[in-house]
Amino acid sequence: MVKMTIGVYKSNKNAGRFRFHRKKTKKEWKHYFIDIDEDYGNTFGSEWVSGFKARILKRKQQYKRTFVCTNCWKRWTQYVPKNCHEVDECPFCED
Ligand SMILES: [Zn+2]
Repeated sequence: MVKMTIGVYKSNKNAGRFRFHRKKTKKEWKHYFIDIDEDYGNTFGSEWVSGFKARILKRKQQYKRTFVCTNCWKRWTQYVPKNCHEVDECPFCED
């Protein structure tokens, strides 16, 4: 089971529980991820994390990008690291 980070945002922990926002409600980091499980398939999930862990997770965050294969010219979307703008493998050309 691998958690692939797709977002780390500051969020209001009390959102929804109180009708009116108090000015001093503490914002906490929320980690959004895709749980990659080869047997049961991928599921989306979220969890509260500390500020320290949020910084680590942000570095590993994946971004959804669209790629075009220069061989078969088909498009697909894939989660890749921030500075990755090219992938070697085309899901349609693979043997
Ligand atoms: Zn291709």
